[in-house]
Amino acid sequence: MDKTISLLERLGNLLQQQLREDANELGLQAVHLQILSYLQRANRYSDIPIAVAEYLGLTRGTVSQSIKLLQQKGLLIQHNQQTARRKVHLQLTEQGKAVLQASWLHSLQAELAEDTSAAARLEITLESLLGKLQRARGNAAFGVCRGCVFHQREQTGARCGLTGESLSEQETLQLCREWQSP
Ligand code: SF4
Repeated sequence: MDKTISLLERLGNLLQQQLREDANELGLQAVHLQILSYLQRANRYSDIPIAVAEYLGLTRGTVSQSIKLLQQKGLLIQHNQQTARRKVHLQLTEQGKAVLQASWLHSLQAELAEDTSAAARLEITLESLLGKLQRARGNAAFGVCRGCVFHQREQTGARCGLTGESLSEQETLQLCREWQSP
């Protein structure tokens, strides 16, 4: 058990260290890359500043300043949804996507792809551990849409049972702030 904790700690430190180095090279902070990475995977209910703050455990002020800087650097744009609530949604630019492509995340994906069955087993174990820790802290799970209790399959495609809206195949693979365990 001690060894597992030690491994998790060392992995976390290593990833943070790599993230800081990548960010430094771009004149950014690690948190800026984390925001880009989250937004690249977030669905349309979750690509908003408050969801960024919840996912990363940041204050709204930090998120707001970071978003402003990422916009100034041309890595992020914002757009307003044409609904009554007029929420501000955030989207990576091509330049923002290229920054992530060159970051540690890409190398990590390549490592995991070398043994897909081991990666799948690891995913199940880590998902279970993460879920327990999130429930203990009362944090939102931010799971992948396909595994949500509200996810519905119809002949014409996927639908969200919570909002009643249809979902594209790509959206069913994204992270959602409203995700609930089946
Ligand atoms: S089905 Fe669940 S995860 Fe997917 S969009 Fe709806 S609430 Fe979010």
